[in-house]
Amino acid sequence: AALADLVASRVLDVPDFPKPGIVFKDLMPLFADGDVFRQVIDGIVAYHGRESFDVVAGIEARGFVLAAAIAYATGVGVVPVRKAGKLPRATHAVSYDLEYGQATLEVHTDAFAGGQRVLVVDDVLATGGTAAATLDLVERAGGTVAGLSVLMELGFLPGRERLAGRPVHALLTVQ
Ligand code: IMP
Repeated sequence: AALADLVASRVLDVPDFPKPGIVFKDLMPLFADGDVFRQVIDGIVAYHGRESFDVVAGIEARGFVLAAAIAYATGVGVVPVRKAGKLPRATHAVSYDLEYGQATLEVHTDAFAGGQRVLVVDDVLATGGTAAATLDLVERAGGTVAGLSVLMELGFLPGRERLAGRPVHALLTVQ
C-alpha cells in the first residue's frame, strides 16, 4: 500500500492527451524524483525476488528507464523491446491493434537465447495490447516470462483480462 501511495503521489492526469477524451497518466514526476524512483525500483525487485529472473526487458520508451535501473540494481542485463524498424539485426515482430490502427513491436531473434527467465517492465498497463505482444515476443525469442511489472494499471480497461493466465504485477491500480 505504501508503494501504491507513493506512485499515486507522483502521477499527473493530463486531460485530452494524446487525443480528446483521453486522460493521460503522466509519470514523469515519479521518474524525476530520485527517492521515489529508487523505492519503486527496489519494490519491483523485492516483489519478484532477485533470483527469479535472468534478464530484464523494457518496453519502448519509458520501460527502458525502469528496465535499466532494475538491471543495474540486480546485476542482470537489459533487453529493449522496440517499435518497428529500430533494431539492426534479424527480429521477431508482433503486431497488435490500437484504438485506431496498429502497432508493431520487435526484439532481436537471439535476445533471450538459452531459455532465459525474463522480467518485463513498463510504466502503464492500459488495454494490455503492448504487454501481450511483448510477452509473445519474449517466448518467440526463446525466453520464458518470469513476470510482468507496471507502475500503474488502468483498472477500467481490460488489460488484465487480455493477459489472462499471465503474471501481472501493478504497483498501483486506478479505477
Ligand atoms: P496498452 O497497449 O493499451 O496497454 O498501452 C500501454 C502502452 O501505452 C504502454 O507502453 C504505456 O507506456 C502507454 N500508455 C498507454 N496509456 C498511457 C498513459 O495514460 N500514460 C502513460 N503511458 C500510457
